Order: sequence, then structure tokens, then C-alpha cells
Amino acid sequence: MDYFAYANGTLNAEDVPLTAIADAVGTPVYVYSRATLERHAQVFRQALSALPNVHIAFAVKSNPNLAVLRVLAKQGYGADVVSEGEMNRALAAGIKPQDIVFSGVGKTRTEMIAAVRAGIGQFNLESEEEGIELAEIAQALRKPAPCALRVNPDVDARTHAKISTGKAENKFGVAYDSAAAIYARLSALPGLDVRGLAVHIGSQITDLEPSREAFVKMGALMELLRGQGHIVTHMDLGGGLGVPYKAGDALPTPEDYGRMVADVAKDWDVTLMFEPGRVISGNSGVLVTEVVRVKRGSGHPWVIVDAAMNDLARPAMYDAWHDFAAVRPTGETFVANIAGPICESSDTFAREREIDVVQRGDLAVFRTAGAYGATMANTYNSRALVPEVMADGDKWALVASRIDPATILEIEQVPDWLG
Ligand SMILES: *Cc1c(COP(=O)(O)O)cnc(C)c1O
Repeated sequence: MDYFAYANGTLNAEDVPLTAIADAVGTPVYVYSRATLERHAQVFRQALSALPNVHIAFAVKSNPNLAVLRVLAKQGYGADVVSEGEMNRALAAGIKPQDIVFSGVGKTRTEMIAAVRAGIGQFNLESEEEGIELAEIAQALRKPAPCALRVNPDVDARTHAKISTGKAENKFGVAYDSAAAIYARLSALPGLDVRGLAVHIGSQITDLEPSREAFVKMGALMELLRGQGHIVTHMDLGGGLGVPYKAGDALPTPEDYGRMVADVAKDWDVTLMFEPGRVISGNSGVLVTEVVRVKRGSGHPWVIVDAAMNDLARPAMYDAWHDFAAVRPTGETFVANIAGPICESSDTFAREREIDVVQRGDLAVFRTAGAYGATMANTYNSRALVPEVMADGDKWALVASRIDPATILEIEQVPDWLG
């Protein structure tokens, strides 16, 4: 459910016509809906209400915009971060350090020092080596580091290979069979406060069975550790719940997910932690684009839009589908290909798809672009860095400015010796 709907023939973000935003800011532009973000945050929390002691940390990597983080901070959400940069954004948005979880296989020494100093709530350790380094840092700073050990449960999330993280061959976490021994060794290190386990098997999960299987394995590991006298007070079940990208897609809902988790984990007697990203941010944003021209040739017409793979990388990276809709549809449809202006064949958003009829100058949107959209944008082909807007009722505001190619040109220089 989202708050992008047609009123008087024009697609609105809440009560703001997208035509008004495009007129003022230009295109392409990401537009987020505050009410949608809040609704998703509340629905996800409500879905877990049968469980005591729940901590929800929004996966900042899905949408790190400061205003977006601010909305979620006000909903009582913490943050799951994967870099010092994301940590600083979460702090700047008003998320408390103790509500921040730091994930990722490549936390550098500098990042770990900054995070210990900031007093973040939990490090999700992805290897024994990382734990040993963190222990040294925490000891030197005389600040014990709370941590969980991320375990690779070796289950197949049945999602796109590039966003699957819980199989033995993936780089994430420690092997399930070595986890208890590593937990024991890390627990003995001064400087670490090893308090639990973490798991995250992948993203855009559309089938709950692999998650259930992973959580059952984590529960068994928790019992084993407790049986050996270790303390396990926190279990972080990660994120990954998928969202519908195509109108009519039937996916497990947050309620289905909550029921499954409650079924597996209700008697664990821990603080259960969650790291949802896409399910909160995905349908909270659209990418507004203008049709540059419609190119006709031998096959289906090519709708060339002014957004490209540098603005929205998911179709090129993951063969992802984003619904396309005219901002002022005529009611007619045609079968067309949709592509951006970049000189790569992968800069194609859709092939042979039935879409609203559009022509030069028309506005359209790619839906479900609030997650892994603007955050993956770059300036390839010396294009601008795409701006972001947030709508809230009948108000809207720019929440990230467009960065023009001229500004990027300013940070480059030709060395003297090139003459
Ligand atoms: C990416 C990621 C998430 C969020 O995934 P979504 O599919 O956006 O919910 C959560 N935890 C970790 C460790 C991640 O890497």
C-alpha cells in the first residue's frame, strides 16, 4: 500500500501532483512519500507485536537519505549500517548510537574505532579475525564493544544470485559448523561483549521457507551455546523481506513474516532484532522521468526516457522489473521497449512491455524505486547526480539537490606536467 495515486487524471505523491515537482525541480527526480514510509514502519512493527523485546534497525543502505532516516527515527527505528558514512548519517538523523547495528565483512580499523567511540549498540561480526581486531580496539579505547556473531546458515534464499547472502559460498558470516567454537573464543576476549547471533540470508525474499529454515538453525545454535554455558541475549534475524514490483504480485506480507518468526522464536527469551530495508523504503518512492522521444524502427517502439541506469541501476544490475506508468495517462496502451540515453545496451528498463501510451515531453514514473534507487545512482556518461524530493500531504521539499556535471568537473584537475 502506498500513497502514489491518481487524482484528476494526474499521478500524485500524497496530495502533490508529480507535474508540480517536475516543473520545479526538473527530471529525473526521485519522489518519496512520508506517509508511506510511516505506514510501512508501523505495519512492520505491528506484524511483530506478538513478540516481546523487539528492536528494529532500518537497513540504511536501502535508502540513506537524511530526511528518510529522520522519518524512521521518529517512528522509533534504529539503523543497520555498513559503513562509517552510513553510521554518521544515522546519527545526523537523530538515531541514538545504542540503536545502531554495524554489519559488513569489510569494516576497517578506522571505522571500528569511530563506531566504538560513538558507542553504537551492536557490531555484527562477520569473521573471527574481525572480532580479534575489534577486541584490541575496544580494549585500547576502554569501551567494551557489544557484538553478535553473524552466521552463514547455508540456506538458499531463492532470490537473485547477486542479492543472496546465506549460502556457504557467499562471503557473509562464519560457517554454521564453526560458529559455536568461534563464539566461545571471541567471548573469552577482553574488550568484547559477545551477546548474540545474527543472520541475514538475502534480499527481495519472496518465499518464507528458507528464512524459517535459517531461523530454526539459529535457534538450535543458540540452544547449543547456552548448553555450553554461553550467554545469548540477542538474536538478529536480519532483513530481506521482498516487496511487489509488479502490480498483482502476491508476496508474503509483513503479517505472514511476523507469524512465521513468532512460530519459530516466541520462546527464545532474547531481544529479537530485525534489519528491514526494502520492505520499508521500496514502495515509498518513485522515479519521475520525462520522455525524450519515441523512436520507431523495425520492432516495437523505443520509449527513450531521461532517466538512465546511472539513476536507477536495478534493471541493469539485477534484471529487475519496475512498473512504468504515465503521470497523465490517456487510457491507451501500446507495447514498447523503455530505455535511457546511456551508451550501453544494459541501459534498458523494459522490453516488449504493455505500457501507457506516451510521447515526447510526457512525464512517467518507475514505481517501487524507494529502495536501492537513488543510493546506487552515479554520474556515468557525465550525467547529473539525480535529486530527491519528499512529499508530505500537500507539502513537498527537495531532500537532496541535483549535482550538475559542471560541479563534478570542478573537482577534477589536469596536472601541470601534462602541459
Ligand atoms: C541489505 C541488508 C539488509 C536489508 O535488506 P533488505 O532486503 O533491504 O531488507 C539487512 N541486513 C543486512 C546485513 C544487509 O546486508
